[in-house]
Amino acid sequence: MASDHLPSNREIPDTRNSMCRSKGYKKDLPSTSVIITFHNEARSTLLRTVVSVLNRSPEHLIKEIILVDDFSDNPDDGLELAKIHKVRVLRNDKREGLMRSRVKGADAAVASVLTFLDSHCECNEKWLEPLLERVAENSSRIVCPIIDVINMDTFQYIGASADLRGAFDWNLIFKWEYIDYKERQRREKDPTEVILTPIIAGGLFVIDKPYFAKLGKYDMMMDIWGAENLELSFRTWQCGGSLEIVPCSRVGHVFRKKHPYTFPGGSGNVFARNTRRAAEVWLDEYKELYYQAVPLAKTVPFGDISERLELRKKLQCKPFKWYLQHVYPELQVPNKIFTPGRPTSIRQGHMCMDTMGNLLDSIVAMFQCHNNGGNQQWTYTDSGYIRHHDICLEVRDVYKGSEVLMKICDGNDNQKWKLIQPGGMIRHARYPLCLDSRYARFKGILAERCNSALESQRWQIL
Ligand code: UDP
Ligand code: MN
Repeated sequence: MASDHLPSNREIPDTRNSMCRSKGYKKDLPSTSVIITFHNEARSTLLRTVVSVLNRSPEHLIKEIILVDDFSDNPDDGLELAKIHKVRVLRNDKREGLMRSRVKGADAAVASVLTFLDSHCECNEKWLEPLLERVAENSSRIVCPIIDVINMDTFQYIGASADLRGAFDWNLIFKWEYIDYKERQRREKDPTEVILTPIIAGGLFVIDKPYFAKLGKYDMMMDIWGAENLELSFRTWQCGGSLEIVPCSRVGHVFRKKHPYTFPGGSGNVFARNTRRAAEVWLDEYKELYYQAVPLAKTVPFGDISERLELRKKLQCKPFKWYLQHVYPELQVPNKIFTPGRPTSIRQGHMCMDTMGNLLDSIVAMFQCHNNGGNQQWTYTDSGYIRHHDICLEVRDVYKGSEVLMKICDGNDNQKWKLIQPGGMIRHARYPLCLDSRYARFKGILAERCNSALESQRWQIL
């Protein structure tokens, strides 16, 4: 009702940072096919999506708008829109879900760049140019606008924060997350800079068409809705591409509290099945962390994944461990997965705990991670030791100071450490002292009074 009362070409506030307004874009950008799939979308909302694309994009950059009607109850919803200039409508003869519907639209597209949108969006001022420019520069980028909020009840258009990126926990549910302090500082200097994101929200993005094909489109055995964004995100990063949010591009989207459509098979089952397919193909041993977080998922059959595994092999994609280290080092990895004897690195971003080739009774320091084990290879054991071969990290004498030295592992209590999650602090088992890299350059890694506010006490064990 709220939507029906608003004109399809209504004004919305320009929510971009003022520095975006003076930015110019290349003249020779490629044109794009816009693909919108829908199932039982409100007519006025769908129409407004189409109208906003046409009104707020340079004419020559929109090759066509392909609407894929995913077997909506009323076929007229789409047919009416087919009368609009540049609009083509394809209709499924059974319910397929958004993944297969988008691929159908992509296959029919004639432009060399694909732009996917949900069926309840409003494109803002100059939303398209910055997206196309990034993809034209480098075809292995998948780029997204900042997704503004169209209020579900009132349809008020509200600018979203520009300090967010896509993230997830081990339940593999998408969430927004504030970018960290360093990244915020970088963006303060130039608010038009793109934000790299571990995962995309999934509904709104631009991708080079040949690259979409090369990368394996979507998993065609996923149904209805959910986890396809996770799968595409892991696939993109692990197979050599990148995901970014372009802050000078703004598109509004109606975020809804629940799905306004049916899920043949039940929403829980469909979502778990899709998520399992993503986890089984891309997560390697880390899939166990998903099953620890969502034990019931294990009971949902996920079908045949051999084609997707083959794709992963063919594209020579990197392991999930690489993704965790390089793309999303902030994700806390629960300790449990690290069985004794499985060597890992102990790191803070790109810096790793390193013996520096020192021997017994020496300090440990921090060094640029090289991911080759060696002096950076540690094992956090079940009983709480931080081991490097026969050497264990030991607090020397808590009464005299907080020096941490490499000692022969002899089982004494000064060698025992507890990993504190969330936060990633490595606390001594007996004293309120935590491993701290603050003075690593001069005094090595020390055990200092625990303080979760200190970045220098937050570690990832990967
Ligand atoms: N959609 C579809 N078929 C389905 C489910 C969803 O075509 O079986 C469409 C839906 O109409 C929307 C897009 O896929 O345009 C994304 O779905 P939705 O907006 O419900 O997801 P959300 O944005 O809430 O994650
Ligand atoms: Mn949506």
